[in-house]
Amino acid sequence: MSASLNINTPSPVQPLCVDWPGSEQVELFIKRDDLIHPIISGNKWRKLKYALLEARQKGVAEIISFGGGHSNHLHALGYCCQQLGIQLMALVRGDYSQNPTPMLRDLYQWQAQIMYLDKATYQQRSQSDFIEAWRAAHPNAMIVPEGGSQAQALPGVAEILQEQKQKFSHIIVPVGSGGTLAGLIQARQTEQQDNTQLLGIAALKGEGYLEELVTNLLPRSAPTNWHIEHRFHFGGYAKSTAELHTFCQTFRSNTGIGIEPVYSGKACWALKQKLAEGYFPQGSRVLLIHTGGLQGARQ
Ligand SMILES: *Cc1c(COP(=O)(O)O)cnc(C)c1O
Repeated sequence: MSASLNINTPSPVQPLCVDWPGSEQVELFIKRDDLIHPIISGNKWRKLKYALLEARQKGVAEIISFGGGHSNHLHALGYCCQQLGIQLMALVRGDYSQNPTPMLRDLYQWQAQIMYLDKATYQQRSQSDFIEAWRAAHPNAMIVPEGGSQAQALPGVAEILQEQKQKFSHIIVPVGSGGTLAGLIQARQTEQQDNTQLLGIAALKGEGYLEELVTNLLPRSAPTNWHIEHRFHFGGYAKSTAELHTFCQTFRSNTGIGIEPVYSGKACWALKQKLAEGYFPQGSRVLLIHTGGLQGARQ
């Protein structure tokens, strides 16, 4: 399936060459999951891989999933479904029927069905009676939760660590619905890299809530030595400032690596800030996971 979708894994790990204050004390690396595919956003592939394999094996004809009007998850899923001949039913938060976002226009082009839910209805997206009602109405469909973050997503995310043999003292990743961080937490254990510190950067306002999402995805026996930093969400999901936009542009021109202000830009900003604060001990080997998202950086 990866071959038929032209998925480029393993993704490369490269030195991250920046002149930020504090960077001379440590070694910086970046895992280029943004290069996995031009349309399928990097970490969304990681999270969807095994669900899509199962759908193919079982001959699932329809997938139902959830997201906002700018959702990288729905966008990646919509493209995969079209390529694999599966009908996608996208349940979208809010009514964009009069002016669909570029992401939603792509979904229409890929023959997805879109249903717009008002915010109160969308709130129920993970409640069991809501899910059961959809299951009853679409008994043969596979239902994938928001962001693709479900237990089944973790083995695909784990491959981020498994596909390269280097060891790192710190791994940094942006956090939205928590599946990527949860997968890395689990992979760290199975790969016996328990000494690697995992640092999630919240891309939205969600102190407590995000920790709960991550914990709920993990087995009870999972290690608890991970941390989410909540200082760098810039006011909330998809909120940003002129300063963050400039930072993303400067980063791109200095490194040749594109980042966007919703996820990867906030993670890079946080890395820069933490370096300046002397957070990383001298000699640390710090890996930033570039989760992709550039296909979504459109107006
Ligand atoms: C969805 C997304 C994230 C967040 O990942 P979660 O597993 O939802 O926490 C980070 N980066 C990009 C580019 C994304 O599209």
